[in-house]
Amino acid sequence: MSTVIDELGAKLKGYEGRAAAVAGTGKDPVNEPMIRHWCEAMGDTNPAYAGPDAVAPPTMLQAWTMGGLSGHAGRTGAYDELFDLLDEAGCTSVVATDCEQEYLRPLRPGDEVTFDAVIESVSDRKTTKLGTGYFVTTRMDVRVGQDLVGTHRFRILKYAPAHRKPKASGARRPRPVVNRDNAGFWEGVERHQLLIQRCTNCGTLRHPWLPGCNTCGGPDWDTVEASGDGTVYSYVVMHHPPFPAFTQSDHAADAAGPYAVGLIELAEGVRIVSNVVGVPYDKVRVGLPVRLEFRRYDDDEDDPLVLPVFRVQEGREGGVG
Ligand SMILES: [Zn+2]
Repeated sequence: MSTVIDELGAKLKGYEGRAAAVAGTGKDPVNEPMIRHWCEAMGDTNPAYAGPDAVAPPTMLQAWTMGGLSGHAGRTGAYDELFDLLDEAGCTSVVATDCEQEYLRPLRPGDEVTFDAVIESVSDRKTTKLGTGYFVTTRMDVRVGQDLVGTHRFRILKYAPAHRKPKASGARRPRPVVNRDNAGFWEGVERHQLLIQRCTNCGTLRHPWLPGCNTCGGPDWDTVEASGDGTVYSYVVMHHPPFPAFTQSDHAADAAGPYAVGLIELAEGVRIVSNVVGVPYDKVRVGLPVRLEFRRYDDDEDDPLVLPVFRVQEGREGGVG
């Protein structure tokens, strides 16, 4: 079985560098109505995208190349062949994993785009939580006349779905969605550190993690480790519907019942949503001093989950409010 798949891997590599689309042309020139609709949909009010000197939002790059319901023109057979090979090998599922764009110059109304796409790379066989398969990266070069105006890399995972065994308890916490913007936070959690992002331009602390500073717009940041002290800034008690995975296991009486979700203000000034532990849900109060700890959930060897939670300080429950 594995020999078959390795042969497949070699065959798939043979598609690297082959054209996926040649001499594609945008269905419409870059135009103000499409820009306006995009900006309305995105809630983007940047003045650069309106008025007589408008440019198109750079992130619209792919929109100018899309075939729409009437389909694509200029697509080669190579991409379809590659997909057929993967389908035949059982890799029948597909998920888009990421997209990277580079912008070389702004597009303006009236620009007529053309594009070529190449199968840039096919990964070795990878096993992910979704299943085993191959990452396929396609690069599209977008031009106006002879000028390269941008590139669009699009990566998919074509895979054979894993058969997930249901958990005996049936109550498992949803896993965090880890991406490039928040990976550092979750790496910190693994080391039992709660890391707060700090803008290196203006010094503003921020949480949750973001790619830029809301205060000054600066993209550069470092981190500071939270001391672990905090207070309950606000909280809600969840009664219905019941989610057994979220109940507080250190209070058996609550096992099937309500639980408190706290908004914790850290000593450093930023706030984080977390569980308040150490007291029953109906003893959580605004202003309670809490202390950070890291708790492991679900006892899942394959997919461990560690989360920061906040424990009410000894003797303080019921003492405030
Ligand atoms: Zn800043």
